[in-house]
Amino acid sequence: MKRTKIVATLGPSSSTPDVIAAMAEAGMNVARINVSHGTVAQHEALASRVREVARTLGQPLGLMLDTRGPEVRVGKLAQPMQLKTGDEVLLGRRGIPVNYEGLAEDVPVGAQVLLADGRISLRVMGKESGTLRLRVERGGVLESGKRVSVPGVRLALPPLSPADKESLKMAQELSFEFVALSFVQGPEDIVRARRELGPGPWLIAKVETAEAVKNMAKIVAAADGAMVARGDLGVEVDLYRVPLVQRKLVDLCNAHAKPVVVATQMLESMVNSPVPTRAEVADVAAAVWDGADGVMLSEETAVGRYPVEAVQAMAAACRAAECGEVEIRVPGLAPELVGQVPAAIAQAACHIAEEIRAAAIVCATFSGWTARLLSSFRPGIPIVATTPVDETARRLTLVWGVIPLKVERQNTPDALAAAAVAAAKDEGLISPGDRVVFTAGLPFWQAGTTNLVRVIEA
Ligand code: PEP
Repeated sequence: MKRTKIVATLGPSSSTPDVIAAMAEAGMNVARINVSHGTVAQHEALASRVREVARTLGQPLGLMLDTRGPEVRVGKLAQPMQLKTGDEVLLGRRGIPVNYEGLAEDVPVGAQVLLADGRISLRVMGKESGTLRLRVERGGVLESGKRVSVPGVRLALPPLSPADKESLKMAQELSFEFVALSFVQGPEDIVRARRELGPGPWLIAKVETAEAVKNMAKIVAAADGAMVARGDLGVEVDLYRVPLVQRKLVDLCNAHAKPVVVATQMLESMVNSPVPTRAEVADVAAAVWDGADGVMLSEETAVGRYPVEAVQAMAAACRAAECGEVEIRVPGLAPELVGQVPAAIAQAACHIAEEIRAAAIVCATFSGWTARLLSSFRPGIPIVATTPVDETARRLTLVWGVIPLKVERQNTPDALAAAAVAAAKDEGLISPGDRVVFTAGLPFWQAGTTNLVRVIEA
């Protein structure tokens, strides 16, 4: 059974119920809708199709909305422009149009400006009346709508545009499980988004700017999870430092028992090929061994020719990496969690399970916190998380190794344990006679009370 979760982006290649269902059967746990592309009507239709597929398959699927975020883009060009190395070009009011008036004000002379995913590089030589004068240092073809990055320069863009606010409203109305926040700079962006969004969806901070890398620890503390958004990170920060940021962010999230996703170009060649490259398979395995909760597919499933095969390949790469021959790193919990009863109980449950060769760890969880703590120790056996809360079951789709099961609310500790173990048995996750470690928190309806561990014979 695959333990690392797969987040797959939906788009024109994966918008029909049949393809979405095939992707779910191949191992997709969370469907991501990137609102930077498509219309609101399309996003709503995709979200309801995912819900329908989950109902039909009887399988929990998470929905992730990925916001556009504060970003600068090239405006409408009459036709693609060839920018030649050594040329001088103007950007802003009197030159190539951009969607942000304040660009020339924010960007100092001497700064580097990158266009089109960093393929085109320019240097600011001067500026006048809302316009930047730049020299092309690495040329290329520029098309309308391409992103404008200014590495290391904090732009005075509003952190939540009106379009972002609309997206957050949609995420709340359609009960998305996760909102991935683009271009966060610091913890205050998470707090602001939470205020706008209200309770419910987990906020996943996309770390993709130099400022976010600097503020990583505070961002993880404020968010519910994080994403190593390697696409923009490779433009905004030194490309060769992306793996370092990946390792550090994964460690931080593991230490706080918060889900972390490694994203972008994982199986890039599968946009056009039915099989991945060796390097891509190795990249997925490295993310699993680093301790990622989830690995993500973007263009591969959104616009690629082989969306289902891409999920199959990713699932196969995860399963091979998880076979136990190579250990997954466990950095240990953060000092602020160590010494707390829930963390101690979760660690003890994992130790006991290993020592008595239990078939599974079964927990009863209300908010999902017990399951997240158990997962942070990366036990070698299934973590079955039973919960009466539908939203919790759907959110645990992003937590490594956790199999969420809906179980009705019980009134006594004995009934809670019996119902949880029976549900795991009914699903074929454990067999009669298996030893199971059961853990939960009492009183059950209070989140974060993990305080009970028992060994049960199924
Ligand atoms: C990324 O930059 O890696 C990313 C995941 O964000 P987006 O797909 O929105 O560019």
